[in-house]
Amino acid sequence: MLEQLHFDNRFTRELPADSETGNFPRQVHGSCFSRVTPARINEPKLIGFSREVAQLLDLTGDPFVDNHFAEIFSGHRQLPAMDPYATCYGGHQFGNWAGQLGDGRAINLGEIVNQRGERWALQLKGAGRTPYSRSADGLAVLRSSLREFLCSEAMFHLGVPTTRALSLVLTGEEVVRDMFYDGNPKVEPGAVVCRVAPSFTRFGHFQIFAARNDIELLQKLVDYTLRTDFPHLGKPSRETYIAWFNEVCRTTATMIVHWMRVGFVHGVMNTDNMSILGLTIDYGPYGWLEDYDPNWTPNTTDAMGRRYRFGHQPQVAMWNLAQFANALLPLIEQVEPLQESLDAFTDHYQRGWENTLAAKLGLSQFDAATDKALSDDLFSVLQLVETDMTLFFRKLATLRIDQLLDRDIDDETLMQPLRAAYYEPDQLTTSDRNAITAWLRRYGERLEQDSLPETKRRQRMNSVNPKYVLRNYLAQLAIDKAETGDLSLLTELLELLRHPYDEQPDRDEYAAKRPDWAKHRAGCSMLSCSS
Ligand code: AMP
Ligand code: MG
Repeated sequence: MLEQLHFDNRFTRELPADSETGNFPRQVHGSCFSRVTPARINEPKLIGFSREVAQLLDLTGDPFVDNHFAEIFSGHRQLPAMDPYATCYGGHQFGNWAGQLGDGRAINLGEIVNQRGERWALQLKGAGRTPYSRSADGLAVLRSSLREFLCSEAMFHLGVPTTRALSLVLTGEEVVRDMFYDGNPKVEPGAVVCRVAPSFTRFGHFQIFAARNDIELLQKLVDYTLRTDFPHLGKPSRETYIAWFNEVCRTTATMIVHWMRVGFVHGVMNTDNMSILGLTIDYGPYGWLEDYDPNWTPNTTDAMGRRYRFGHQPQVAMWNLAQFANALLPLIEQVEPLQESLDAFTDHYQRGWENTLAAKLGLSQFDAATDKALSDDLFSVLQLVETDMTLFFRKLATLRIDQLLDRDIDDETLMQPLRAAYYEPDQLTTSDRNAITAWLRRYGERLEQDSLPETKRRQRMNSVNPKYVLRNYLAQLAIDKAETGDLSLLTELLELLRHPYDEQPDRDEYAAKRPDWAKHRAGCSMLSCSS
C-alpha cells in the first residue's frame, strides 16, 4: 500500500542543509535542517491508525495485514523516496529565550502531494536522536504518544485546527522516564507517532535565525514559507511579509477561540510550540477543563507560575506573536504594521469569542449591550462550585424556554437537567442555588427575545458544545489498558471521538464527569513535561 505515496520533498530540496552529516548533538549554523536517519528498532507493532489521515495521503488498504506499515512509520526502515531530516529552531520557553532547540525527537520523512494537489508533511515523533537532541534520548513513551495520537484526531473532529496523527506504533524498546522528576525512574514502553500537517514550521524556526542575526537565512526561510504555505499572498516582498504576519495573527486567534470553546489547555505554549499555520501542535502535558476554572493548568512543571493556565491562553498567544514579530522586524524594518497586526489579533479574538459565546448559548448573535454581562455572570456562576464545563453547556441546550420563564417552577426543578454537571450537587448552598437559577431565568428572558426557534437553538448549541471530549481520565484509562496489551479502549475512544457532537446514546458513559478516583491521580489531572 505504501507504494501509493507520492513524495515531493521540497523542504530539503530548496533550503540549505547542514553540511555536517554525523548524528551528534551540536549547534547548527547557516542551515535549516540536518539529514538524519531514524533509529532501527526492535519489534515495531502498529496499535493505532487513523483512516481519515490515511485518506489525506491517498493511502488505501489495510495497514495491519503485515508489518511493513509499522516498520516504515516507526522509522525502522525508509521508503526510497523519503529524505529524513530534523529542523533547526529556537524558542522562548516559559518566557525566557532558550536558544537552539530544534527537532530533538522529531524526524521528518518528507512531504506527500496527494491527488488533490495538497501538500502533507510526515513527521515521526520518538524515532531516535538527532543533532538537536541535546542530552536527551530522542524517544517517546506509550502514554504520551497515545495521548498525542488520540488528541490530535479528537481535536480535528471537534473542528479545532490541529496537526493530525496517522499512526501509533509500539517500538518494542524500553524507555526510562522519571515521570515527576522526583528520583523515581521507571521503564516504560517506547512508541512513535506519525504526525501529519501541511507543514510543521513554528515561530521558533524564524526566531533562531533572527537571534543569530543571520538575516539572509531568515529571509530564505520566510520566502520559502510564503511560496509553499502562503502562495495566495503573492510574491515575497515587504508587503507580503506584513500580510503574512497579519494572517498568522488571525489564524492564531481563531485557534485560541476554539481552545476556549472546548475547554482545551495546551500546557506548554512556548514559542517553539506555536505553528505558523495556526494549528495546535505538540501535544504534551495538555488537559481538558473538567470543572470550569480559568486558573487551571494540567502541567505540573508550570504549577507555580501558571503561565499557561486556561484563562491566560489568549494573552500568551499574543505575547508569542510579539516575539515572532520581533524575529520578522529585520525584514520589515517598521514597527507600526506589526503593531497593527497585533492589535488585529485582539480584535479578531474578541469578535471570534463573542460569536462563539452566542453559539454556545444558542443566541442568533452576540448583542454586547446585554450579552457581555450575561456571559460574564455565567462564568462567575460556573465558578461558585465545581461545575463541569462540557456537561454544563451540553445540558444547557436541553432547558425549555417556557420553563425558564415560568415563575411557578421551583429552583430545584429548574436546575434538574443541569445536576449532572455538578461535582457535589448535594452540597450546593441556598445562595449558590439562588445565583444559578437567577442566571438561568435571566438567560430564559434573553432567549425569549431572540428569534431562533427552539429546535434551531438546540442544533446551534449542540454543534459547538461537544458531548464527548478526550477527558483526562479517559485518556489515562486507555493508557492503563494499552500498557497491559489491551487496545480496546484506545480503539473505542478513537471511534467515539470521530463524532463528538453526536449523542451516541450507547456510549453515554464516556460523557460522564471525572470520577472521584481520578481527581488526584497522576496522568488524570497532573502531567509533567516528561514524555
Ligand atoms: P517540548 O517541551 O516537548 O516542546 O520540547 C522542547 C524541546 O526539547 C524540543 O527541542 C524537543 O525536540 C526537545 N525534546 C523533548 N523531549 C526530548 C527527548 N526525549 N529527546 C530529545 N529531545 C527532546
Ligand atoms: Mg515542542
